[in-house]
Amino acid sequence: MQLRLPTSIPEVQECLADGAVPIGGATLVWATWQRDGFPELAVSLRELPEANAYGPQELGAAVMLHRIDDRVPEVLHRAASGIGTGAVRRAATVGGNLVGSTLRCLLPAAVVLEARAVVLEPEGLFETDLSDLLAKRQLLVGLRWRTPIISGYRKLEEEAGGPPPFVVASAVHTDDGGGNRLRVAVRDGYEVLSGSVACADDSTDVPDALRSTDLGALDPTDWETVRRHVTELLSRPVGG
Ligand SMILES: Cc1cc2nc3c(=O)[nH]c(=O)nc-3n(C[C@H](O)[C@H](O)[C@H](O)COP(=O)(O)OP(=O)(O)OC[C@H]3O[C@@H](n4cnc5c(N)ncnc54)[C@H](O)[C@@H]3O)c2cc1C
Repeated sequence: MQLRLPTSIPEVQECLADGAVPIGGATLVWATWQRDGFPELAVSLRELPEANAYGPQELGAAVMLHRIDDRVPEVLHRAASGIGTGAVRRAATVGGNLVGSTLRCLLPAAVVLEARAVVLEPEGLFETDLSDLLAKRQLLVGLRWRTPIISGYRKLEEEAGGPPPFVVASAVHTDDGGGNRLRVAVRDGYEVLSGSVACADDSTDVPDALRSTDLGALDPTDWETVRRHVTELLSRPVGG
């Protein structure tokens, strides 16, 4: 297998035109390739500046999970730090997790940040929805979002050999009308569900309002986890 390390967008496009398979940290693909055979050509974005972007409102696809710290919103930082083992996080990348894994612990966090995906198509770089990215499995170059007022994340304990642990992610945003809006996303099994409600000064009604969104389909135990998480988030001082 030949591995290319392009340093510019046109070079990446050339690799894709040559049929190169994208690779992140190879934490998932390596075992499959050893079993089924290696592709002739692979392309890593680790030398591409756009895929190494890192800031309070952006994260490149080649950034390794262990590098994600409190420079990004809490929800994303905590999601990344709870993935797999230290060894996995030191190799696995944002792109591999969001596009390539089935667990996708980063996805609920990206959903509540209302993140946009920067993807590379034959015509160039585009911004698109997370749902489009996942449906088309495009080449992810990075994520962009607006800083939320506050955010939070909780992943329940894993049971060995059991179903994926339940995850709840949340963020409060200022909406265009100047009010606040809460968005909550959960991973229930392998599905990600989300809901968004206005969030006025009296936050006691917020959990009830959330129940009329897709999150209302959760079973009573998972719903109770969401309700507690949201109540705790909304009781925190802003910036806490
Ligand atoms: C022991 C273990 C525990 C784990 N626990 C968790 C967990 O708790 N939560 C969780 O979410 N995940 C978990 N994972 C999965 C882990 O997150 C993935 O292994 C990892 O995110 C894949 O990243 P990678 O960079 O190594 O991808 P790779 O293995 O390199 O690639 C995986 C797939 O993604 C594609 N890909 C890579 N980069 C891009 C890109 N930029 N754009 C488009 N496609 C791309 C590749 O073509 C390939 O199909 C675990 C994995 C292991 C091995």
